[in-house]
Amino acid sequence: MTDLPIAGSRPAISEFDREALAAWLDARGEPAYRAEQILTGVHRPDVSGFADLSDLPVALREELDATFRFSSIAANHVLEADSGLTAKAVHELADGQRVESVLMRYPARGAGSERTTICISSQAGCAVGCPFCATGQAGFGRQLTPGEIVDQVLHWHRAPWSALGAGWRPGARTGHYNIVFMGMGEPLNNADRVFESVRLLNDPMRLGVGARHITVSTSGVVPGMDRMVDELPQVNLAISLHAAEDTLRTELVPINAKWPIAAVIDAGRRFADRTGRRVSLEYVMIDGMNDTLVLADRLVALAAGWRSHVNLIPLNPTPGSRWSGSPPERVTAFRDVLATAGIAVTIRDTRGREIEAACGQLHAQLAGRELPNARPVTVA
Ligand code: SAH
Ligand code: SF4
Repeated sequence: MTDLPIAGSRPAISEFDREALAAWLDARGEPAYRAEQILTGVHRPDVSGFADLSDLPVALREELDATFRFSSIAANHVLEADSGLTAKAVHELADGQRVESVLMRYPARGAGSERTTICISSQAGCAVGCPFCATGQAGFGRQLTPGEIVDQVLHWHRAPWSALGAGWRPGARTGHYNIVFMGMGEPLNNADRVFESVRLLNDPMRLGVGARHITVSTSGVVPGMDRMVDELPQVNLAISLHAAEDTLRTELVPINAKWPIAAVIDAGRRFADRTGRRVSLEYVMIDGMNDTLVLADRLVALAAGWRSHVNLIPLNPTPGSRWSGSPPERVTAFRDVLATAGIAVTIRDTRGREIEAACGQLHAQLAGRELPNARPVTVA
C-alpha cells in the first residue's frame, strides 16, 4: 500500500505490503526469508534505522535505505506527566504536519497486571469541529496514511523505556496493551486508511495487536459504523455521544446535524447485535451544559435494552474555553441515576492534564510554548 501524502517520497516500510516486499527482494535476487528478517528487525526496540539491521548484507541495508523510509515520522518530541505514567509524543510528519499520540500506564492493582493504553491520531486536525475539543478548534489538516497511523504505535513499541517491545515476538499475538483511536481526528472520516492500519497493526509478523485490544472512537459517522460491523467486527466501538438531546448534541458535536442521536444509537445497536460486543457511549461532562439529572434520565432511555456501557468523562477544558468540567459531586449524581436504572456506567479519569495529553484533547502546540510540569524525555 503506497498512499503517500508527498509526491515522490519513499514509502514507509511499516506500510509496505509483505508480498510486495518479497517481490522487491526477489527482483534483487534476495531470498524471500529476508522479508521476515526485515519486518522483524524494524520492530526491534534497539533499532533506529536500516543500518542497524546487522543480520542483513550491507548492500541490502543501503538499498533499503534508498527505497524506503524507516518511519513515516520525521521526528518525535516526547513529554511526560503523572510521574511518568503518562507520556505524550508530538510526531512531526514528512510534510511538517504534527500529530500526537499518548501512552498511559495503569499500574497493577490487586491481582490485576499493569495495563497500558496507547491513544493515537487518525487525521491531522479534524473537520467535525466540536467546540470543546482542541483538535476540532484547530480545523482539518489532512488524512493520515496507514503507515503514519502504525508508526505512532511503533514509536512507543520501539522506545526501550516503554518495555512494550519486550512482550513482542514475530508471529505471535500481542495483548499486553490497548490501542484507542481517541487522539486527533475522526477515524471514520478516514475509514479506508484507518481500517488498513488496523489490519497492519493486526498482522502477526508486525505488531500482532489483537483486534479486541483496539478501539475506534467516533463522533457518530453512521456509514463508517456500519462498515465496522462487516470489516472490523472484533474491534471495539466507542461513540462520542456527549448529549442525550438533539439540539444540545448538534451544538456540542456538530456532525449530529447529519446523523442525529436516533440514527447514531441505531447504528450502535446494530453493531452490538451483529457482533455480540458491548459499545461504549462516551459522555464528556460539561458544567451546566449537559449534566442535569433530566438529561441523565434521557441518557438512560438511550442506553437501556442493548449492550451499551456509558463512560462519563469530566471535560478537560481547552485553553480559553468558556466551559469547565462538571464538579465531582454532579458527576457522581449523574452516574447514580444511570446505575440505579441498571445501566453499566463508569467514570473515567482524564490523564495527562498538564501536558494537554488527555485523549481527544490533542492539538500540537509545542512551538514557543512552555509546558511547565512536563519533562521532555526524548527528542529524536
Ligand atoms: N473524533 C473521535 C475520536 C477522537 S476524540 C471522537 O470524537 O470520538 C476522542 C474523545 O475525546 C471523544 O470522546 C471526544 O469527545 C473526547 N474529547 C475531546 N475533547 C475533550 C476534552 N477537552 N475533554 C475531554 N474529552 C474530550
Ligand atoms: Fe473531531 Fe473528535 Fe475532536 Fe469532535 S471530539 S472535533 S470529532 S477529534
